[in-house]
Amino acid sequence: MQMGSFSDARDSSHRAAPFRLGRRHRAMNLLNLTPNDAERSIAVWVAERGEPPYRLRQIFPRLWTHPAADWTGVTELPRALIDDLTTSAPICRLQLQTRQTSTDGTVKFLWRLHDGLAVESVWIPEGRRRTLCISSQAGCAFGCVFCATGRMGFQRHLDPWEITGQVRELLLDPEFGKPTNVVFMGMGEPLHNWDAVDKALTILNDPHGFGIGARHITVSTVGIVPKLARLAARPEQFRLAISLHAAVSERRAAIMPVEKKYPIGKLMEALRAFARRITFEYVLIKGANDSVRDADELAKIATPLGALVNILPLHPGGAAGLTPVAAGPTRQFARRLKELGVNVTVRRSRGLDISAACGQLRTETDLAASLPSTTVTSSSN
Ligand code: SAH
Ligand code: SF4
Repeated sequence: MQMGSFSDARDSSHRAAPFRLGRRHRAMNLLNLTPNDAERSIAVWVAERGEPPYRLRQIFPRLWTHPAADWTGVTELPRALIDDLTTSAPICRLQLQTRQTSTDGTVKFLWRLHDGLAVESVWIPEGRRRTLCISSQAGCAFGCVFCATGRMGFQRHLDPWEITGQVRELLLDPEFGKPTNVVFMGMGEPLHNWDAVDKALTILNDPHGFGIGARHITVSTVGIVPKLARLAARPEQFRLAISLHAAVSERRAAIMPVEKKYPIGKLMEALRAFARRITFEYVLIKGANDSVRDADELAKIATPLGALVNILPLHPGGAAGLTPVAAGPTRQFARRLKELGVNVTVRRSRGLDISAACGQLRTETDLAASLPSTTVTSSSN
């Protein structure tokens, strides 16, 4: 059993004295630090205790590269050291509340946080690729009308360890393991929680963290312009997906309130400074963004940027009265874009039978009177 409480470890997270841990200090959450900082903290702690330096090499990899479920399982360490670590730097875990498996192999996880809030991740296997879609916030402040998370409103930012913990939990599960790709397309707006996401990107990418290549990590955003510059300033080639969903400002404002604060014109200006391949996410909604003019305006802004347009089917869960666009007109919309020289993909729905779109598992679970906190496999329908 852990002696240091979960909340103690959170309280003394990245916001407080990051380089010290030990008996004189409160418990600390090493998983909230960048690998460099965590390594330094452990080295100092090992030295202060008079332990041989090789203890660092026994402890440090158990954070991310060879993650331990808890210190008790790190049997190469002496018992007293395990007890000290458990008290000083307990390994914080996300609690699995629900797991649903789709008939197409997509798996959705609902994680319960220490304060009772919940966030979700989605595992999407496709050939050799295993993509994990992760959450960066509980709820979301941006209120896009088609989005289940947006309808919940904002609850709180996730800490770095809660973001990267979604990957760590799967590494600890022999049924899953390390994803080949990570996308910030779960709950929340990653650039609204930039400080934590900045650190989470380092943990995901660093060879002493999870070692996932920057080109395999995608940040999806509605386009918070000042924060885009922060992401652009990072030297790693993280991928950027912009949730555009309409290329005409008034049309976009009708479905995405963020357009009023950061209009398309300003967003495009910021994107021009982003010297990397960009994807525009475009959920087709009947009557809202699916006309020929919508396609033409989209082509006008996508072509000069060399952006890829990813057309997505509308999943249920957003405001009432929104209608998805049928397969035929979706293909026509894509064809029009191609004719205008745009690079387009039409993504098929994954995990529809388990409501694997943003925020839907959370919504369903909150609605259900009492879901057991065990594995649930959805039936095919
Ligand atoms: N806040 C970020 C990342 C989370 S949303 C963003 O908006 O980009 C991840 C993706 O899911 C976004 O492209 C979003 O537009 C899309 N999405 C949200 N609700 C959806 C729905 N009902 N159907 C299809 N895609 C949806
Ligand atoms: Fe928030 Fe993204 Fe959903 Fe918009 S689409 S409400 S930004 S999570």
